[in-house]
Amino acid sequence: MAFPTRVCAVCSEEFELKPDKPGFANRCPECSQPDPAGPATKQGMDADERKALTEANEARRKAMRDLLYRKDS
Ligand SMILES: [Zn+2]
Repeated sequence: MAFPTRVCAVCSEEFELKPDKPGFANRCPECSQPDPAGPATKQGMDADERKALTEANEARRKAMRDLLYRKDS
């Protein structure tokens, strides 16, 4: 039996929309899985971890800004 084919809204890959597929109907099974690297979903962070995360985010933002600035000039 064939399942309807959908295009994933995240990665644009085609996938079969199976009735028991977990997650969003417009996302492939891979993109329906929670991001294991996502720090936002992490539970029970202590202050040091939170601080390190904030610093990492700031560094990433700064790097992104530098990248954009370089592209514009
Ligand atoms: Zn996908």
